[in-house]
Amino acid sequence: MQTVYLDNNATTRTDPAVVEAMLPYFAEQFGNPSSAHAIGTGVAEGIRAARSQVRSLIGAAHDQEIVFTSGGTESDNTAILSGLQADPRRDEVVVSAVEHPAILTLCHHLETSLGTRVHRIAVDGCGKMDMEAYKAALSGRTAIVSIMWANNETGTVFPLEQLAAMAKRAGALFHTDAVQAAGKLSMDLKTTAIDMLSLSAHKIHGPKGVGALYVRRGTPFAPLIHGGRQERARRAGTENVPGIIGFGKAAERAMDALALETPRIARLRDRLEQGLQRSIVGIRVNGDPSARLANTCNIAFEDVESDALLTLLGREGIACSSGSACASGSMEPSHVLRAMQVPPPFLHGALRFALSRDTRDTDIDRVLAVMPRIVERLRKPAPRPSRHQTSDLIHA
Ligand code: PLP
Repeated sequence: MQTVYLDNNATTRTDPAVVEAMLPYFAEQFGNPSSAHAIGTGVAEGIRAARSQVRSLIGAAHDQEIVFTSGGTESDNTAILSGLQADPRRDEVVVSAVEHPAILTLCHHLETSLGTRVHRIAVDGCGKMDMEAYKAALSGRTAIVSIMWANNETGTVFPLEQLAAMAKRAGALFHTDAVQAAGKLSMDLKTTAIDMLSLSAHKIHGPKGVGALYVRRGTPFAPLIHGGRQERARRAGTENVPGIIGFGKAAERAMDALALETPRIARLRDRLEQGLQRSIVGIRVNGDPSARLANTCNIAFEDVESDALLTLLGREGIACSSGSACASGSMEPSHVLRAMQVPPPFLHGALRFALSRDTRDTDIDRVLAVMPRIVERLRKPAPRPSRHQTSDLIHA
């Protein structure tokens, strides 16, 4: 039985063309890009080309605005910490309540260790930002705003251009975590007020452990990692060369696929959602129906536990993820769904199906075929133990 992989917001399959592009950089192209000899300069040329490919994906003006990092988490941390050092009169951070832990855990650390004031902007039932609260949080004290372009759990897309413009008017720096949005939405950073933007290769069919931070030319910047002068002294350490080459190729492939694949993926996602809604009662789709990534379906099943759903789906060869996180041994509903005030009967039964350009009609057919049976089985009240069994239990 072939696995149906619908967990593409967690990670994507590495594109075979990406693997092929990387392979020489594990073998004959082994040089250090900082070396002056030909073996090094050949590798530096590969990195230069990858930087240009990544720049094109987001429509940035200059290759030098791309700083390669170890992934989305490092890019997010670098942006916030750098933003807090830009202007001594500004010491507050504004984020949404539904950011990825790469932002929220750092913010919690800053609050508890340095006393930094962090404003977490609430969202509504669709996951949309409370714009009045956002406006009220911006002030002459705001050092940096960080709002994700699209949410990893629900796919809700934020009005980035408007949010960035408002931050700029308040004199603050604006960062966005575009880890989930990149390769799924077309981007032209030249026309926005975004100062910094985080990317991760493994969400766009590239390798794991590599990403980038876009830093608009002229933005004040303080590195997170100090050492050698790699990445124009903005990120020290010998480059993850094969990773960067693979990231470049993945960015190029994502850009080529965007226009054709987005409507196809949206059609599959809608077929999945409508099919589930037709065949199962007590369903709630989480996210903003008017502004959502084409690939993401977050759907909650009333009075069912998502970990039980995942187990039974796993037995059918279907891989997706739940809207819960394991916290100290118990399944806690995600902070995103809690922030959206998803009603309690649905809160523990959320699943995230995340599609990609690898997803086929047959994958959706498989989910639609098994899901009604699985939900029915889990909703059925557990049979009461017979008297005989009860006494067995007592004497056991
Ligand atoms: N930001 C978002 C929105 C994500 O979905 C993820 C990964 O799940 C990250 C950041 C972290 O990226 P990485 O795995 O490259 O550190």
